Amino acid sequence: MSLPNPISVSTDTVVTYPDGDLTSTGTVLRVQPLADGRTAVVLDRTPFHPVDPVWPDQPADAGALTTDSRSYPIVDAVVGATDGTTLYVGDAPVRTGTDGWAFVVAHLVDDASGLEPGSTVTVTVDAERRGALSAGHTACHLASLALNDALSSLWTKEVPVDGRGRPNFDQLAITTSRILEGGSLDEYRIGKSLRKKGFAAAELGPRLDEVSASIDRTLAEWVASGAGVSIVRDGGGHGLGQRRRWRAELPEGAVEIPCGGTHLRSLTEVTAVTVALELGEADGALTLTMRTTAQPA
Ligand SMILES: [Zn+2]
Repeated sequence: MSLPNPISVSTDTVVTYPDGDLTSTGTVLRVQPLADGRTAVVLDRTPFHPVDPVWPDQPADAGALTTDSRSYPIVDAVVGATDGTTLYVGDAPVRTGTDGWAFVVAHLVDDASGLEPGSTVTVTVDAERRGALSAGHTACHLASLALNDALSSLWTKEVPVDGRGRPNFDQLAITTSRILEGGSLDEYRIGKSLRKKGFAAAELGPRLDEVSASIDRTLAEWVASGAGVSIVRDGGGHGLGQRRRWRAELPEGAVEIPCGGTHLRSLTEVTAVTVALELGEADGALTLTMRTTAQPA
């Protein structure tokens, strides 16, 4: 079924979305038809953010591949992985960044006719959607730090802390995180193991309004500071599998969080970030939902 691919994929796709890039020109390395009828197109470099199936927090960008003769709408993009022979698209047996594997952006198109290894293509990312997702992702990280801060008095034992030295509720309790355009949706589970670690779960309900107000106060302070935001790359390369960190120059000091997504460049790009908290129950455990909203400037 698969087409001959004279150029093999042996190194990570060079990704420029961490720098905020929206367009670039690259060379097609591989064109692979998928079982669902779509085709995965791998380039040597791209500004297109793909969803990572291992931790699918930020969805794929929208946009298109363009050649001299036509344009191919990108219907989705996922992190692919190859051991040098097989290209896994969305079902890699290893985590992104594992040694001995190359990690690539698989741009999915409905019809790839005319595209072949060696073709030169321009990638264009929808700027409006990217901007809204970047705002949502930055707001998500800020809200998680503000949540940790607001819940810090509910811990009775020592647990791992976040970049600001607060007990890292976000890391210990999160089950899913979804970046939306202009916000995010985080789900936390407060079960037996979190209680054993010293989290006073019974106090959360009575204090929920107070916690929510505290988060909004902290977020308002940070937004007012207009703090700079950047992505720090570990090591020198620009490959997809390279570890990266989100960094915010908050008033009391810089904070970093491991992150593979896209972000604002400064908090002057938003006028407000606020949250709404909701407690629930699932499988005998308490759940906390945090909806975060960022108002664009
Ligand atoms: Zn992130």
